Amino acid sequence: MNDRVPAPRLRQPDRLLLKAEAEPRPLIDAFQRRITYLRLSVTDRCDLRCTYCMPERMTFLPKKEVLSLEELHDLAAGFIARGVTKIRITGGEPLVRRDIVDLFAALGRRLGEGLEELTLTTNATQLAAHAEALARAGVRRVNVSLDTLDRARFAALTRRDLLPQVMEGIAAAAAAGLKVKLNAVALKGLNEDELPDLIAWGHARGHDVTLIEVMPLGDVEAERLDQYLPLDTVRARLAARWTLADLPDTTGGPARYVRVAETGGRLGFITPHTGNFCDGCNRLRVTATGQLYPCLGGGERVDLRAALRSADPDTALAAALDEALRIKPEKHTFRMDARGAAPALARHMSMTGG
Ligand code: SAM
Ligand code: SF4
Repeated sequence: MNDRVPAPRLRQPDRLLLKAEAEPRPLIDAFQRRITYLRLSVTDRCDLRCTYCMPERMTFLPKKEVLSLEELHDLAAGFIARGVTKIRITGGEPLVRRDIVDLFAALGRRLGEGLEELTLTTNATQLAAHAEALARAGVRRVNVSLDTLDRARFAALTRRDLLPQVMEGIAAAAAAGLKVKLNAVALKGLNEDELPDLIAWGHARGHDVTLIEVMPLGDVEAERLDQYLPLDTVRARLAARWTLADLPDTTGGPARYVRVAETGGRLGFITPHTGNFCDGCNRLRVTATGQLYPCLGGGERVDLRAALRSADPDTALAAALDEALRIKPEKHTFRMDARGAAPALARHMSMTGG
């Protein structure tokens, strides 16, 4: 399947990593949840400024703090050695990172050798330029974040007038054979009137669509509760218009799916507030600086960069991963209801990736 993948141009791949363990232990946390999914952020930078994600004057990390592509690759290899079968590259916007396609090509060579799926979440502004290379690397599916189909609204929501490029990106991905799923954050007064059109548009093109409740992550200038639209409200409105049939498939993630009879498409709901989804959590998140956050909604953290750059990285990484499993909380504690948004974590979603 990967015979067309060019040799990775990353220097010194597989420098190390958990070779000390003849039989690497699977990643199982204190609540007996098995971790098979890594979301790896490769940059905190972005070419958009979505109003729910970051402020216009976002302070980005100094580049020297960010892991090199080689380090990201080694880290990912270490997770694969401990039983991770799915890796999602995220950010920030992963496609703004220079030479990121080299990382996809290098990781793509792991497909079929422990790694079962390599994918990414992108805003698609630069997807047209990269879709072919991603497909060649072995990427089969891509999540594209798209909250509106209206150009003026898109410009207001993202503070950048780039909807045409996003549309080109989505078309290029489909042309390259990538299965596209659309993710939309449901935003009160901003796109709520348009959600049925967005869903119908996606379904007409064969794209699954998933709606997400806004989460209180990082200071974004806007007032969170002003943006918050509970998905139980949205679902009730959609059910008045369409026939929604519950689907059993959960894809191991937090989304719950329905089939929309009228469009024939699949619609997901990610509801951190109106329906807790933590029981089956199978994932860990690592930031572009190598900070492992066992929970998107918690402050717990383990420094994998320090482990990676230590004198004995194998041992230090194994210990760091064990620590992450030990401290992974049972459930997130953020809240968004009539009492307000709490606790608003200082960390932006662009740090940990969506
Ligand atoms: N830049 C890429 C993108 O937008 O797809 C990847 C990173 S972005 C942080 C990942 C996802 O997080 C996007 O779907 C975005 O809509 C979502 N997101 C960002 N901030 C959020 C928030 N505060 N609450 C809920 N979702 C958020
Ligand atoms: Fe960038 Fe994605 Fe955040 Fe929008 S949601 S500002 S595209 S990182």
